[in-house]
Amino acid sequence: MKILVIGGAGYIGSHAVKELVNSHDIVVYDNLDTGHKEFVDKKAVFVQGDLSDNEKLNNVFNEYNIDAVMHFANYASVAESVKYPDRYFNNNVVNGLNLLNAMIKNDVKKIIFSSSCAIYGIPNEIPISESSKLNPINPYGETKLMFERILRYFDTAYGLKSISLRYFNVAGASPDLIIGEKHENETHLIPLIFDTILGKKDHVKIYGDDYDTYDGTCIRDYIHVLDIAKAHSMALEYLNNNMQTKSYNIGIGQGYSVKEVIELCKNITGREIKTIIDKRREGDPPVLVANPERFKKDAGWKEEFNIKDMIKHAWEWHKKIN
Ligand code: UDP
Repeated sequence: MKILVIGGAGYIGSHAVKELVNSHDIVVYDNLDTGHKEFVDKKAVFVQGDLSDNEKLNNVFNEYNIDAVMHFANYASVAESVKYPDRYFNNNVVNGLNLLNAMIKNDVKKIIFSSSCAIYGIPNEIPISESSKLNPINPYGETKLMFERILRYFDTAYGLKSISLRYFNVAGASPDLIIGEKHENETHLIPLIFDTILGKKDHVKIYGDDYDTYDGTCIRDYIHVLDIAKAHSMALEYLNNNMQTKSYNIGIGQGYSVKEVIELCKNITGREIKTIIDKRREGDPPVLVANPERFKKDAGWKEEFNIKDMIKHAWEWHKKIN
């Protein structure tokens, strides 16, 4: 198939492209705002462009005869979305809508969308299943939920079929160390721990130790970026065979607290990590753990890596880029 990967130069998108080029023709469309051109596999065609550029986007659909789209080009920081909601609604919703309009115009009716567990807000049950209550508590989660809803209305109106993959906390790097996580303004826990170990930061701030969890810190379900990449190719296969709009949780089903992640990083790197307890970060739910059984059952996906692999691979990658 010819797949257009929007945001294929970013952290998750570039890992998906690396997986997809083995069995598909890939065209990456990325504005390089936060992505890295050198992360795009050489077997893929690269086009630099913005989702707000209707003409360029249309030309890509025309020129490459696209069969399906994967959409990774969303802003993804909870804290930033609380501070600048306009940016998030504009990029994640308005630009996303532009993409869908271009798809309909060019008669492309299949899309895999990077959604998020942030759409559940403070979950009404743990583990979280796809039928748990949808109630985002920050603009980031709100944009993801809005887009999932738009996708459903586009199915009803235009027959656009989609799979939304609701990622939990993505971590790790490609073990061959060709690509990994590299952000200008890092906000994610594991990379920030490594920045501290490598002396780029003085300490790790633990955002709240007074949550109602076993050690007072927030619990998250971490999943390896390669398992996410694999989920994308399997989701597309499943969509091709079933042609039904669906949403799936993509996590491991096991939670780790902030303190546990820091401990694991200490053990794996053999280094000390200075921490301080800071106040809670706005928009953070206390516990997010997936029930990923539905995707396992429907698509036959299963994760290959555990949290230690994620930390190991991410640590090797961070040493390489610093
Ligand atoms: N976190 C933290 N210190 C940091 C960054 C994150 O304590 O410097 C916590 C954060 O409150 C959350 C967890 O680590 O509970 C994971 O946060 P991250 O930003 O990595 O991902 P998110 O859950 O926001 O997608």
